[in-house]
Amino acid sequence: MSYQNPIPDYQLLADRKQEYMKYESSQKLTWCEGCGNFGIQKALERALVLEGITTNNVLMCFDIGCHGNGSDKIAGIGGYTLHGLHGRIISAAAGAALANPRIKVVAEAGDGGTFSEGPGHLIHAVRSNYPMLFILHNNENYGLTTGQASAMTRKGYPMNGSPDGVGAEPINACDFVLGLKPSFVARAFSNDVSHMTDVLRAGLRHNGFAFVEVLQTCPTYNKATPEPWYWDKLRPVDQIKGYDASNLKMAREAAQDMDKEIKVGVLYQDKNSVNFLERLPGRKGIKTALVDEVKAFDIAKLIGPYR
Ligand code: SF4
Repeated sequence: MSYQNPIPDYQLLADRKQEYMKYESSQKLTWCEGCGNFGIQKALERALVLEGITTNNVLMCFDIGCHGNGSDKIAGIGGYTLHGLHGRIISAAAGAALANPRIKVVAEAGDGGTFSEGPGHLIHAVRSNYPMLFILHNNENYGLTTGQASAMTRKGYPMNGSPDGVGAEPINACDFVLGLKPSFVARAFSNDVSHMTDVLRAGLRHNGFAFVEVLQTCPTYNKATPEPWYWDKLRPVDQIKGYDASNLKMAREAAQDMDKEIKVGVLYQDKNSVNFLERLPGRKGIKTALVDEVKAFDIAKLIGPYR
């Protein structure tokens, strides 16, 4: 099977170099050599710049995990970042997105935090269609705590703490989310920065909850799926004749194979998606954002009798 990288928009990036440099950090990133987090951070920076989103117009929210070590090293000049509790970043990010829809909200979390500690938050974010981009870093293990099995670790593969392997089947993240009637589901590979940039750009443009699973290499602890394992298995859906990303059933079928022919790209998108705020009857016709409506309120009269 042939795998062709899209041609990145180098000229536009060069034209916007000043804005791009604001996302870059002079601080040393502490990820292991060859870690897929480098590619994901790079693709996100590029996607934001190419979509014309400046550092003061985005809030980047990080869960706990190896990826979270990038939280103080992105958008260092005039940018906003939030480092949340393990498995809970979707809730914090959704709150920010609903309070101030004028800024773009991006949340990132690992496979451990998302599918063991915080799956309830993911489920209701998808159902509610909160207006935000969510990036799942799926490195198939808990890297930050030295390589324990996660809900995405391949069955039977030995990890620290489970040397005989775990007996459970791994969760297929995209299939799981597609089962919730989402509005946007995509998959990318951490070491293909150009393709991932395109996928993240589509997610940033989406009106609703954009779920992007990034298959992330972890050369230190995940020896089951190292970088070379992926390359000849990746199949961009936009190179499949007749693939229709508006067809949920087709997307679910495409998401299944995680071993031989792994589909990447925008698997599903509802281009008529209506986000959570737009659905709320109580917000109809209101031009202000919730942050504009915050005001001092004297609760003394309310609590007076109970003091
Ligand atoms: Fe990256 Fe794995 Fe190292 Fe964590 S342990 S920084 S995920 S290579």
